[in-house]
Amino acid sequence: MSRTPIIAGNWKMHLDHLEAIQLVQNLAYHLERADYEASELVVCPSFTSLRSIQTLIEGDRLELRLGAQDCHWEADGAFTGAVSVGMLARLKVAYVLCGHSERRQLFGETDEITNRKVRAVLAADLSPILCVGETLEQREADRAGEVVLAQLRGSLADIGADALERMVVAYEPVWAIGTGRTATPADADEMCGVVRRTIAEDFGEPVADGLRVLYGGSVKPGNVAELMRRSEIDGALVGGASLDPEDFAVICRWHRL
Ligand code: PEP
Repeated sequence: MSRTPIIAGNWKMHLDHLEAIQLVQNLAYHLERADYEASELVVCPSFTSLRSIQTLIEGDRLELRLGAQDCHWEADGAFTGAVSVGMLARLKVAYVLCGHSERRQLFGETDEITNRKVRAVLAADLSPILCVGETLEQREADRAGEVVLAQLRGSLADIGADALERMVVAYEPVWAIGTGRTATPADADEMCGVVRRTIAEDFGEPVADGLRVLYGGSVKPGNVAELMRRSEIDGALVGGASLDPEDFAVICRWHRL
């Protein structure tokens, strides 16, 4: 099955709304029709920039898609500081990162919390980008496959196969995020294959065939093409390099490299 690749930029806690606008304008200047046709191009700004970027995308008719970096699972209520999926949907957000390793490690988010978020995102007809990945210690102990499998099963508990049509999974080894160390294309491909096989076992082959599995972890202009050539890798989740419009544009142009 042919799957439309996704290149998604995760800006994390960088850029105020004015800087974010500038970055998108600059990025759009570098992109051509063929780039939008080759992949879905997504930017995930911080909450305070979402409205500005939504307005820019609509005003300039850009074909960029909007993503959010997190959400709360409840529709509303006394959850100071939290943002609901409904609020994100009103801003035409299409994708929501769930279970990013920084949320897991720095904010104590478990598979159970991630599962609640994934279910809330799916219930609102948005697409979760579920992040999974092992630490260096786990990889060195030969436990990468087992850890990723447990994260997938925990985060996807009580979700039906039909709901998974819009699902995206990002395999992001923790030791490769923001470190400049990238998994080798062969290792990344193998782990994305583990993700797909687990989904096939639990939800059936058709769901697994349609599932887009991204790789994330120090993706740069110099390594994106080789990663994208691998059959199990359907795109990239890009942190640091997505903050530089020229670098991110080159990554979005992987199909021409
Ligand atoms: C990320 O934040 O998801 C990520 C992959 O970051 P970086 O590209 O900087 O490693």
